[in-house]
Amino acid sequence: MNQYNILLDPAKMPDAWYNVIPDLPSPPAPPLHPGTQQPVTPADLEALFPPALIEQEASAEPMISIPGEIMDAYRLWRPTPLRRAYRLEKALDTPAKIFYKNESVSPSGSHKLNTSVAQAYYNKSAGINELTTETGAGQWGTALSIACAMFDMKCTVYMVRVSFQQKPYRRSLMQLYGADVVSSPSDTTDFGKKILAEQPDTTGSLGIAISEAIEVAAKSGGRIKYSLGSVLNHVLLHQTIIGEEAKLQLASVGESPDVVIGCVGGGSNFAGVAFPFVPDKLKGGKDIDFIAVEPTACPTLTRGPYAYDFGDTGQMTPLLLQYTLGHDFVPPGIHAGGLRYHGVAALLAQLVKEKVMRAVAYYQNPCFEAATLFAQCEGIVPAPESSHAIRAAIDEAIKCKESGQTKTILFNLSGHGHFDMTAYDAYQSGTLEDFDLDEEALQRAENAIPKIG
Ligand SMILES: *Cc1c(COP(=O)(O)O)cnc(C)c1O
Repeated sequence: MNQYNILLDPAKMPDAWYNVIPDLPSPPAPPLHPGTQQPVTPADLEALFPPALIEQEASAEPMISIPGEIMDAYRLWRPTPLRRAYRLEKALDTPAKIFYKNESVSPSGSHKLNTSVAQAYYNKSAGINELTTETGAGQWGTALSIACAMFDMKCTVYMVRVSFQQKPYRRSLMQLYGADVVSSPSDTTDFGKKILAEQPDTTGSLGIAISEAIEVAAKSGGRIKYSLGSVLNHVLLHQTIIGEEAKLQLASVGESPDVVIGCVGGGSNFAGVAFPFVPDKLKGGKDIDFIAVEPTACPTLTRGPYAYDFGDTGQMTPLLLQYTLGHDFVPPGIHAGGLRYHGVAALLAQLVKEKVMRAVAYYQNPCFEAATLFAQCEGIVPAPESSHAIRAAIDEAIKCKESGQTKTILFNLSGHGHFDMTAYDAYQSGTLEDFDLDEEALQRAENAIPKIG
């Protein structure tokens, strides 16, 4: 009998997050203050984040225990199933074993709830009753809206204009959970007004929306804090519950991965599935192939320079050492909205730089082709973002068929695509464009990156 679903006993759900920082080959480069370009101090971050999250940002503790109230929130949908993709393996006629962690079962439909409930909890515990944030495709805004509803907090979401207009159901979903949703750029912030005056017809961008959300928190006199859905160390930390559970689930069937795959926007879901396996490679000597998958339209890890850059267009965030396409980069309008960020998490960037992990890029059409096969075999409609991980997993499985190797492949299914049917529609009608970034665009990006030191 095939065991399709490998379930973890809820009583065995890990109660501490895994912190990769002490296991890195070299210490992480410090974030720099956007004005002085000196290393940021905890005090610099206090306007935006509560003390517990600032502490996690630079913690050297190997494990950080998960407070009971967060465990309690997690138990609404965690542990998530690990599934052996027997049907996909059969369709591919591969000797590889393919496993995926199904993060699409969360109430928000993606992995993002793993960090939003943690961030809402720590803010609430610090006496904060209101959060601001940005959202692109709407996944993060939805996750934070639910978390704020759970912890009885107000939530304002700056939603990138093009998504605000094209994804009305995402907007009403956030409103259903009680959030205020504002189309960005907006006239509610100084930065938004400036952009509206300069480029009245802009589609908006994540970088602009971040600047607006940060401005509101920074000018609130401490009353409102800001919440980010990816990139920062504490966000990656919260996502490690994915990989920790997967490790226990794989061990329960006598497996451990040879290949670990995830799609990368800011890097949080890939870090979440992959980081708990990093010690097995660095200390245990197991040759694990960690593959970060990004779109060719936004090739941060595969083509961007490794440099200090801002996280937002308005240059308000600390400077982080990362791969970046430049903080004012606006990528082509591919359907994997969650993968359209100009930069990437510094911890992930460092692991790619140090060759512990590697990155590949795919066009969107082959990703939708992979997603379609996956849906027909496994029954689940993947988010367009997740389809990038599926494409890479399928390609690795095909390589196994050619070489006759029986590798164990683990990928993260970061979310479902129930709100992305217009994207599937475009794929089916053959109107999806595949974008390559030209050298000129890359050069422009490089010129926008601040010169440090
Ligand atoms: C936001 C999102 C991503 C990309 O963000 P990461 O921080 O790189 O994980 C990927 N998949 C889904 C479903 C998302 O919502």
